[in-house]
Amino acid sequence: GFRPLPTLGCVISRIDLRGSLADPRDVLPRAEFDVEAALEKVRPICEDVRHRGVAALIEITERFDGVTLTTTRVPEAEIKAALEALDPKVRAALEESIRRARLVHREQRRTDHTTQVVPGGTVAERWVPVERVGLYVPGGLAVYPSSVVMNVVPAQEAGVPGIAVTSPPQKDFGGSVHPTILAACALLGVTEVYAAGGAQAIAMFAYGTEECARVNLVTGPGNIYVAAAKRLLKGRIGIDAEAGPTEIAVLADSSASPRDVAADLISQAEHDPMAASVLVTDSLELADAVEVELAAQVAKTKHRERVTEALGGRQSGIVLVDDLEQGLAVVNAYAAEHLEIQTRDARAVAARVFNAGAIFIGPYAPVSLGDYAAGSNHVLPTGGCACHSSGLSVQSFLRGIHVVDYSREALADVAAHVVNLANAEDLPGHGDAIRARFDWTVPGA
Ligand code: NAD
Repeated sequence: GFRPLPTLGCVISRIDLRGSLADPRDVLPRAEFDVEAALEKVRPICEDVRHRGVAALIEITERFDGVTLTTTRVPEAEIKAALEALDPKVRAALEESIRRARLVHREQRRTDHTTQVVPGGTVAERWVPVERVGLYVPGGLAVYPSSVVMNVVPAQEAGVPGIAVTSPPQKDFGGSVHPTILAACALLGVTEVYAAGGAQAIAMFAYGTEECARVNLVTGPGNIYVAAAKRLLKGRIGIDAEAGPTEIAVLADSSASPRDVAADLISQAEHDPMAASVLVTDSLELADAVEVELAAQVAKTKHRERVTEALGGRQSGIVLVDDLEQGLAVVNAYAAEHLEIQTRDARAVAARVFNAGAIFIGPYAPVSLGDYAAGSNHVLPTGGCACHSSGLSVQSFLRGIHVVDYSREALADVAAHVVNLANAEDLPGHGDAIRARFDWTVPGA
């Protein structure tokens, strides 16, 4: 079993797994993110948008965002003006973020491939971009122009012809989408932007309205209402994932800097009171020093309340392990959205991680770098989904279509096997479709 130890600063709790044989999954709590419970709440919202379109969007936006819209579509002139008014430093940073993301995502594009199965019989795999995608850019607690980059760049590199962006309208910005988000769209050449957030925005994309044509696929992170609407409308639209609150896990030994580790834990806690910050270490000394650093740094950080709630929540903690072996078992079981390896020989340790959304190696690759400008994508699987899913990539926007091309001879060569398998499944009509082509005679069938 595990025994919680008394903490020094009381900012974060401890889970002692030293000498424990328990399955780490049972003792590493995760944030409550009950999408199922939110379904009933978003169902009427989605139905309303389905039946009444823009009128419903305007009413719902008034209720949840406190903004009165006359239209959901952001005028192109406003998008252009936002870029012109953008702080040059932010513009340069966004441009560099876009440049790096393009370098990485361009290389993800799969190439079409044709396999000759038999002479005269080929199967080609053609990678085709989705026709029209809707990208959700969150804008409740914080605004995320970086998420515009992380969604739009892979869609563009995949060759998606129709890209629409939506983001919640902001009371403080005249009821429109945040100007930095608009400017990021302008930099990327996106001209179709909507002022809508939450479940209603996902319904707008799924059903279409007078102002927005329906899309085939919706991507991008968001809060619980966004996740619930994605679950509800999945099937009608494709979705990337139901992103939950953000997570950071740090696997560290005594060589790590307590100052840097504490700063990284705070950086992700800043997103959301439900965010998870987890340190896994075999060094009691480091654990103590990180707690001291946390107390000092939290006191000075801007979003102190949110950070304190996230670090103090049951989803965050310092996990003590016997050694690096156990530490690796813990981080692989946890499957964090972001995993930092701050140990000696970090590259070799990282090579032994098989469950994580993204891995950050050594002292100079903090998650913040990945959030903005490493070139990697920051839309990543949360809540343990990293054990079966990947983050957003060019692949998320492509479908592989098999193209089957067989000659008469190539079909004759395998005809008996098809007829025999069809008979074994008691589907003789399938066999007949083959036999008809050979005047009903297939030798060996
Ligand atoms: P959001 O844009 O997801 O949600 C805001 C919208 O929620 C508003 O427009 C409003 O209409 C709707 N809403 C608010 N209260 C509601 C209610 N009671 N009922 C129905 N609808 C309601 O913004 P957010 O809330 O700040 O959440 C963003 C989330 O995205 C955070 O959890 C953050 O951690 C996460 N995030 C994840 C990543 C990632 O890559 N995984 C990146 C950025 C953000």
